[in-house]
Amino acid sequence: MSQARIIDGKALSDRIQDEVTAEVAKLKAEHGLTPGLAVVLVGEDPASQVYVRSKGERSKAAGMHSVTHRLPADVAQAELIALVEKLNADPAIHGILVQLPLPKGLDEKAVITTISPDKDVDGLHVVNAGRLSQGLPALVPCTPVGSMVMLRDVLGDNLAGKRAVVVGRSILVGRPIAQLLLQADCTVTIAHSRTVDLPAVCREADILVAAVGRPRMIQADWIKPGATVIDVGINRVPFDDPIKAAEGKTKLVGDVAYKPALQVAGAITPVPGGVGLMTVACLLQNTVTAAKRIAGLE
Ligand code: NDP
Repeated sequence: MSQARIIDGKALSDRIQDEVTAEVAKLKAEHGLTPGLAVVLVGEDPASQVYVRSKGERSKAAGMHSVTHRLPADVAQAELIALVEKLNADPAIHGILVQLPLPKGLDEKAVITTISPDKDVDGLHVVNAGRLSQGLPALVPCTPVGSMVMLRDVLGDNLAGKRAVVVGRSILVGRPIAQLLLQADCTVTIAHSRTVDLPAVCREADILVAAVGRPRMIQADWIKPGATVIDVGINRVPFDDPIKAAEGKTKLVGDVAYKPALQVAGAITPVPGGVGLMTVACLLQNTVTAAKRIAGLE
């Protein structure tokens, strides 16, 4: 079998960024509306700092109003909640994202519940999760939206009846992806750490989504020949080269054993350069959607 098609996250995310930039310019010109995104970062987690910087830079590049609030790791829960409430009431802000995970001692659920569902651009509020599960208009988590864009780039709208297996059931990734696949008329299985014979379950998939957080767990012989594989996992591991590894150098890999999988899958997303790039682009898209809905334009 020929090598799998590599689904290009850079090209697709650039396309979304361009579309968002054009839409923001139009909203400004026609309605005097500048979509605004507020990102809240608590603590000093290095990976979170990289993500937050990228969210700020790309929202500004799209012409949005963009603010980042940095709070110390020992901030009081009440102070964090008060900031979210202030952003809820700020008419210049249409999207609020609190970067997760929060440092120990802070109650993530309470913080997410405080975000106005209309401004919940991460799609984590129970109101948005409920609306998604009922097929109603919702703000949907960004990584699942980006994963569907990548899938449609391969399969077009031809998803009905496909067997989809999602490995992982988190509220941020696994569950909402499964909901979107169901809405697209796939036959969906959600697998998790208690699934019996995971390789056999995966082998049934025309569409295999890996959202586990375990480096290279999904092996090539778990993949049905020709399947479309969306690898959401982002895992930092030591370099394969022992000399570089000894120097402490690390790299990013997905949840799928990528090189062998290339020989079996029909199409696959790389890590890095795949789903991760789509997440930020879809966050900007969600912010524009939120701004339009709040302004009564959609
Ligand atoms: P979570 O840790 O919240 O969830 C992991 C899921 O994987 C759980 O449902 C868990 O099952 C399941 N799981 C764990 N071990 C196994 C196993 N051995 N076999 C089968 N299932 C297993 O992670 P997230 O959903 O937040 O993230 C998943 C991955 O995606 C991570 O690598 C993360 O870095 C990445 N990510 C990437 C993003 C992007 O932009 N590309 C955005 C967000 C996350 P159980 O529920 O039974 O414990």
